[in-house]
Amino acid sequence: MKYTVENRRIWFKGEIINVNDAKINVLAPTAQFGLNVFEGIPCYWNEEEAQLYAFRLDEHYDRLLRSAKLIQIDCKYTKDDFTKALIDVVRANEYDENLSVRQTLFVDGFGSWGSADPVEMFVAPIPRGRTSAEYNKKGLNCCVTSWRRISDETLSPRIKCGANYMNSRVGQREALRNGYDTCIFLNELGKVAEGPGSCFFMVKDGVIITPKLTDSVLESITRDTVIQIAKSENIPVVERTIDRTELYTCDEAFLCGSAMEITPVLSVDKYLVGKGEVGVLTKRLHLLYLDVVRGKNKKFKNWITPVYRL
Ligand code: PMP
Repeated sequence: MKYTVENRRIWFKGEIINVNDAKINVLAPTAQFGLNVFEGIPCYWNEEEAQLYAFRLDEHYDRLLRSAKLIQIDCKYTKDDFTKALIDVVRANEYDENLSVRQTLFVDGFGSWGSADPVEMFVAPIPRGRTSAEYNKKGLNCCVTSWRRISDETLSPRIKCGANYMNSRVGQREALRNGYDTCIFLNELGKVAEGPGSCFFMVKDGVIITPKLTDSVLESITRDTVIQIAKSENIPVVERTIDRTELYTCDEAFLCGSAMEITPVLSVDKYLVGKGEVGVLTKRLHLLYLDVVRGKNKKFKNWITPVYRL
């Protein structure tokens, strides 16, 4: 039976239950201090094959374990446990649509911000298009936020933990307050970092350019996907530090992430990017990306995992 979103089944501490029955104590460190690490795993429905494909599970789970290690929580689950939980819970809901699956390791119990255990997990499928507005736009008018991206010397942007999203939040709230769709963060050195839930790319003279992984960005899976797809099409890619003024003079720009996919940036601080329209290379990469995630590109078949039985 396919459940409504309000009554969807989630995987919670080893059981598959109605989302309304999943309870976490208000005093648990995850509730009080955002002490959790998580992944948002995209799953795409392939209509012709009547199959749902989970995208780059291996890379998502490697990052989840790296985040748990860096924030020092004791994870008892293995990558096989992660995969089984995701497959079981999506099957339990019988979803045949695009999803983002939230897979979260959280510190439960009655400890404090310093606690390392008990670590528990939930896995919740979220039908797409129902999260933040900026994830559903065709093109984005951005500002450079006055807040700086967190750095590896304070709280590393490499860790995908709930608490890190408070930095994303202040930038996003400032952008919305001032009439923009979203923002671009500079890092502590004043160089371009990333968006609140996405990575930044620009195009200049046919070359695709993105900040380095050491410029205060998340080790984004979509960023890596874009780089690999572009290289396979012989489109030159450069990872280098980007100046703020390059945002205003580039030919094309886009933000990308598992939720955002590839979304064109039309303007930054009211400077038009190119002609203020969707760029040619941006569009091409987006179409390629949509084929890859749906399992329609043979070169990248090893990135997808079928959720339903073959
Ligand atoms: N940067 C930040 C700050 C993010 O929150 C996200 C979303 N996870 C991304 C980049 C994109 O990462 P991914 O491609 O792995 O979804």
